[in-house]
Amino acid sequence: MRVIVDPTACEANGICAGLVPEVFDLDDTDELHILVGEIPDQFADAVRRAVGSCPKTALRLVE
Ligand code: SF4
Repeated sequence: MRVIVDPTACEANGICAGLVPEVFDLDDTDELHILVGEIPDQFADAVRRAVGSCPKTALRLVE
């Protein structure tokens, strides 16, 4: 499973990065970076929560 971000929808509020900083990183220009390709098992549930918590629905899981 991977996670992708729609940069045109992301408003850089940092919710996902706050929930799973190992996977999501906001840089100094408020661009969100996905730090991993295939999501490690130990972060899978947290990433699902982050996807569901994004108020802009900018995150999507790809199996
Ligand atoms: S929670 Fe959504 S809007 Fe907020 S930084 Fe993450 S992807 Fe962007």
